[in-house]
Amino acid sequence: MDFQLTEEQRLFSDSVRRFAEKQLAQDAVKRAHQDGFPWDVAEMMADMGLLGITIPEKDGGLGGTLLDAIIAIQEVALVCPRSADVVQAGNFGALRTFAQYATELQKSRFLPELLAGKAVMSVAMTEPDAGSAVTELKTRAVPDGDGFRVSGSKIFTTHSSEANLFLVYVRFGPGTGGIGSVLVERESEGFQIGTPSRFMNGETWSQLYFDNCYVGPKNILLPEGGFKKQISGFNVERLGNSARALAVGRCAFNIAREHALTRKQFGRPLCEFQGLQWKFAEVAVRLEAAQLLLYRAAVNAGLGLPDGYDTAVAKLACNQAGFDAANEAVQILGGLGFSEECLVEYCLRRTRGWMIAGGSVEILKNRIAEAIFERRFDQRPPR
Ligand SMILES: Cc1cc2nc3c(=O)[nH]c(=O)nc-3n(C[C@H](O)[C@H](O)[C@H](O)COP(=O)(O)OP(=O)(O)OC[C@H]3O[C@@H](n4cnc5c(N)ncnc54)[C@H](O)[C@@H]3O)c2cc1C
Repeated sequence: MDFQLTEEQRLFSDSVRRFAEKQLAQDAVKRAHQDGFPWDVAEMMADMGLLGITIPEKDGGLGGTLLDAIIAIQEVALVCPRSADVVQAGNFGALRTFAQYATELQKSRFLPELLAGKAVMSVAMTEPDAGSAVTELKTRAVPDGDGFRVSGSKIFTTHSSEANLFLVYVRFGPGTGGIGSVLVERESEGFQIGTPSRFMNGETWSQLYFDNCYVGPKNILLPEGGFKKQISGFNVERLGNSARALAVGRCAFNIAREHALTRKQFGRPLCEFQGLQWKFAEVAVRLEAAQLLLYRAAVNAGLGLPDGYDTAVAKLACNQAGFDAANEAVQILGGLGFSEECLVEYCLRRTRGWMIAGGSVEILKNRIAEAIFERRFDQRPPR
């Protein structure tokens, strides 16, 4: 077992870090409080080859492994947490599921703009009555000629204010087997994007309304029976969230470490108080343990999609470790940590969101328990 990155991975990691320190570090705090998708960062990242890292070269990507993409998002998040949203959207989010299952025609229509950092894609899964129980979604697709008419509504869709393309989970028929997905373009007739609301992490989302919205045959991504494939693709998104949670927690930890070395109270630097040393030690162990679980999930996936169990274990560990690190960092920085002038309060708000988004920590624990007991625990009441 080798716990070191290869020489090539180390060089890649160093080059992303240098780019992040040169181009992104200076405005990291400002960017954390800015509304809207950071398009300037997206174009810079496209130029740096940081979008489509795991997408095959024939489709315009770099043909790298999932671990390469994890390395990239970590290095960016460590320096500028907000900019890591761009790496997520360009490698781990809806785009990755899309690239996995799209037809050649769909890929040639949409990937060039997405990989150039000129467009962004959202995944619309959650509905007012279908959150953790996502298979209860009601948005339906009814046949109309060669295509379908979509009606229903979605909530909490990340980047909905800016996205050009939406990967929408829909119901073609009853039950889990009736679920698939379609691609809806922003300007489609019968598709409306509601007034933006704000999460406590600063991100905005808008409710999406589909009213008999026509989706032609060219925009069907996964037909009826596609739910399992959809969730396999979504596991990549979950690892992106895990990597960001961990790196953003580490970012807060590093800021707290610097502070503890320089800030003096009672005539000595904070790092000389054992009560604080132990906080650092405990956080460091949690971060390092979660890091190994994240690497395991990514390495086992190689060039493919990650395993569901590996993903659940990694996401749970990273979500918890990242949040704990940011939370302790706020405490260690005192009033400064609680202030918007310092990045750690933003790290706290972001890491908190990932404990809910993309499979809450409770739902991950359910998944892990099923693996432990080698049986399925239906969460629905007995009929
Ligand atoms: C920052 C952020 C970004 C998001 N981005 C997107 C996006 O881009 N696209 C999208 O479609 N959705 C997105 N979501 C929505 C997210 O997927 C849902 O919020 C999540 O699945 C939980 O659903 P819910 O909010 O309806 O909570 P509910 O399902 O109502 O759950 C409420 C609470 O009960 C717990 N719970 C529910 N069922 C069980 C159970 N069986 N066992 C134990 N505990 C349970 C949950 O863990 C949670 O703590 C985002 C959410 C956040 C916070």
